[in-house]
Amino acid sequence: MYRTHSNGELRLTNIGQEVTLAGWVQKTRDKGFMMWVDLRDRYGITQLIFDEERTPKEIMEKAKTLGREFVIQIQGEVIERISKNKNIDTGEIEILVKELTVLNKSITPPFTIEDETDGGDELRMKYRYLDIRRNPVKNNLIFRHKVAIEVRKYLSDNDFIEIETPVLIKSTPEGARDFVVPSRMNEGQFYALPQSPQTFKQLLMIGGMDKYFQIVKCFRDEDLRADRQPEFTQIDCEMAFVEQEDILNTFEGLTRHLLKEINGVEVGEFPRITYDEAMKKYGNDKPDIRFGMEFGELNEVTQHKDFGVFNNAELVVGIAVPGGNKFTRKEIDNLIKWIKRPQVGALGMVYSRCNDDGTFKSSVDKFYNQEDLAKWAEVTGAQKGDLICVLSGNTDKVRTQLSALRMELAERLGLRNPKEFAPLWVVDFPLLEWDEETERYHAMHHPFTSPKPEDMALLDTDPGKVRANAYDMVLNGNEIGGGSIRIHDKETQALMLNHLGFTPEQSKEQFGFLMNAFEYGAPPHGGLAFGLDRLVAILGGQETIRDFIAFPKNNSGRDVMIDAPSKIDDEQLKELHLKLNL
Ligand code: ASP
Repeated sequence: MYRTHSNGELRLTNIGQEVTLAGWVQKTRDKGFMMWVDLRDRYGITQLIFDEERTPKEIMEKAKTLGREFVIQIQGEVIERISKNKNIDTGEIEILVKELTVLNKSITPPFTIEDETDGGDELRMKYRYLDIRRNPVKNNLIFRHKVAIEVRKYLSDNDFIEIETPVLIKSTPEGARDFVVPSRMNEGQFYALPQSPQTFKQLLMIGGMDKYFQIVKCFRDEDLRADRQPEFTQIDCEMAFVEQEDILNTFEGLTRHLLKEINGVEVGEFPRITYDEAMKKYGNDKPDIRFGMEFGELNEVTQHKDFGVFNNAELVVGIAVPGGNKFTRKEIDNLIKWIKRPQVGALGMVYSRCNDDGTFKSSVDKFYNQEDLAKWAEVTGAQKGDLICVLSGNTDKVRTQLSALRMELAERLGLRNPKEFAPLWVVDFPLLEWDEETERYHAMHHPFTSPKPEDMALLDTDPGKVRANAYDMVLNGNEIGGGSIRIHDKETQALMLNHLGFTPEQSKEQFGFLMNAFEYGAPPHGGLAFGLDRLVAILGGQETIRDFIAFPKNNSGRDVMIDAPSKIDDEQLKELHLKLNL
């Protein structure tokens, strides 16, 4: 037997017991006649003591050869520690070692295996197995496991069945590029890796499995943005014989269950806002509602004076920054610099200070008097002591810019408390979205999303105005899940694909299998998918999903540990009927 106990287990009640422990050497302290070793495993750290008087000589000598991260096994007696360590669970005892076996040596690790390490990101990724020995990473993986278990528990208790769907499939268009896999047995043909199991879960509904879920890897070959992974995990769900309301209730229930079981937080009913409202109030379809600073549209109260910048703008919009009047001139200038960076791209910012005596001092006093500025305060909800920040320009752009400013200010003012959870639903997304590049409409969610029946008629006249039966769940400024009620008849699906620019032949070629299936009694159905990586990170009070993935890819989509992607040899290429033109 390698061990009788773990390194996190022994207490004063075990005093006098002979135990066998195994683990890694975290640290050694050698006083000559006495030596201590911190022995670590997944469960904790136990202090070992070797002393000249009580430890056999050859064991003492062997102990002196131990280095960091050696894997050892020891036998000894649990004794009470003289100087106790209140910081660890095993801090009241230590093991007087009688036997020591070195199970394996270790060369010096490239970074310290401590909670605060000296290793940079790339180095830690290259030696991820060492990084996983550190508490922060290890605890995140355990945390992820707990979330996954609770997800399975809740869904299973609610009659959902977990069903696996294939990984080698045909492309499912969800807005990103597919990763493809050449087929050796079918020359010139390729599988695609699923961007999601979307079509399969719909086929499962037609198959009568009316409540499905799967914790599943999905793959999207997107240009990498910070903290995006080309492979990621979804909690993918689908239900038949449901309306939007049923789906929202079911998955609000799941989220509430997780917040309660994992975080011990009880949240009330989730607010619901429409996409249009979210854009108007927060300039963003995934608003963080832990704090206010809602947008106030100022066109009416600004466009009656000689200030050309505002008069020519499609939208003049502002926010009241709580306590912002305390910002110095320099701090405000820095803020203006910040929003003028190309990443945000604002041309400038107008502001008005709300003084404690009820007066205002704005950067455009030349054009606006106290009465005007009082109206700005009224519209943005500014109080004494606040700062009103105003941007103007093209509606979509200016909303995006002010949203960025709102988030940045909230961050700087410490209003984004990771221990506070503010979920909401955003509903009534537009069905289609205009793509400047291809000059075509694209499905905002995916081509299987059903339009709102009452908006159907607009498809021909004003496609951009058609709303979808689509919804997102948002938590603390992140989209953590999204889905829709689906089209379940062949005609509507064909019409939809037609609007998306598919010819009837292309539709048949790509989606014939689904449209055929619709002809065999497809039930009304809908669903959604949560991004598990992000969800876990937020529940864990952190922002970086990579920290919750055992073996993540870096920002260029590489696994630097195994060095992938990599070349394959000519023989393999030939078998796959591929020729490289490099
Ligand atoms: N397949 C969708 C996605 O990955 C989710 C859904 O509509 O259920 O975003």
